[in-house]
Amino acid sequence: MHSTQTVSLSSPDISDSEISLVCDVLRSGCLSIGPVVKQFEESVSSFCNVNYGVAVNSGTSGLHLAVKSLGIGSGDEIITTPFSFIASSNCALYENALPVFVDICKETWNVDCSQIEAAITSKTKAILPVHIFGVCCEMDEINRIASKYGLHVIEDSCEALGSKYKGEMAGSLGDVGVFGFYPNKQITTGEGGMIVTNNSDVATLCQSFRNQGRGNTAWLSHEHVGYNYRMSEVQAAIGVGQMKRAYDLIIRRNLIVDRYRSRLSSVNKLELQKVPFSCEPSWFAFVVKLCCGYSVKDRDQIIDNLRSKGIGCNNYFPPLHIQKCYSNINKRRELPVCENISSKTIALPLHSKMVIDDVDYVCEILENLL
Ligand SMILES: *Cc1c(COP(=O)(O)O)cnc(C)c1O
Repeated sequence: MHSTQTVSLSSPDISDSEISLVCDVLRSGCLSIGPVVKQFEESVSSFCNVNYGVAVNSGTSGLHLAVKSLGIGSGDEIITTPFSFIASSNCALYENALPVFVDICKETWNVDCSQIEAAITSKTKAILPVHIFGVCCEMDEINRIASKYGLHVIEDSCEALGSKYKGEMAGSLGDVGVFGFYPNKQITTGEGGMIVTNNSDVATLCQSFRNQGRGNTAWLSHEHVGYNYRMSEVQAAIGVGQMKRAYDLIIRRNLIVDRYRSRLSSVNKLELQKVPFSCEPSWFAFVVKLCCGYSVKDRDQIIDNLRSKGIGCNNYFPPLHIQKCYSNINKRRELPVCENISSKTIALPLHSKMVIDDVDYVCEILENLL
């Protein structure tokens, strides 16, 4: 039975509730700019305990508007992590600002706060931490540095819906937070994202930028050069259904990770991501790091072998600072901790439809391959 088992890396979890809410929208005749987007915004903002939620068509669009609404532009610098999905640094470049990469902490795999101050220049405008795989960054320290130097804080919370830092929701801890709802995230809208903030000016600007720069007056009156980054009513309906189930979806993922961690924490060829005492994670991904004896080639071979046994996995994440598309913007830095960790990590299956037996199967196969 085990030899034919397949376990996918990720999977959306859609119930009859989402399907019926989508059908309601389709029957309503209102497919965009309607009440369901507002309802979804309200459910995410109240979940995160913030004043405003602005829904957009992707997490990437949300990050772009977060940068733009804070007035960050040409020549400015944003300090961020090299161990992430590329949207977290591309958002600076969209506004002709520069992402400045700081190395990561070797235990938590999040930005190393002790290296941030040395990277600050007169051009620095913001710090953009990413709560990688759902584990929160040291937000008190990041906020302390930001207020000392007058910087904004943009939380890329795309992997951390429901993660808590000292009891507060990820996304609510900086000036602006951004969530993503791609199908592998804790909740999905197919494609989609959400900006959350307590700053009413930022919220108003983001609402305008996502909707072709419109103000509250005539439909064809444009105050800004904006974008079409709107979320449709159909996507929002999926989101409303998902948010009703958010705690359940997160608990299921967390139980799967608890099982993985209890099975694998004593395997001496593996290292697991450290969860600081300040953080209660909502897990986006479960990633193991091979110990120092393994090369990139060994890691890639293990990934191939896992896949051949029906186990979805991937190399989350290759370093951003050495991506080909950044070859002309990152001339200065080697980031050895990130480069080392990136060469040894494997993301294993994690989604809310997995059962304990799936975890045990993955662990058994992985242990045999080590
Ligand atoms: C998923 C994700 C995003 C947003 O991705 P979209 O596909 O644009 O929704 C941004 N940053 C990180 C770290 C992510 O994991």
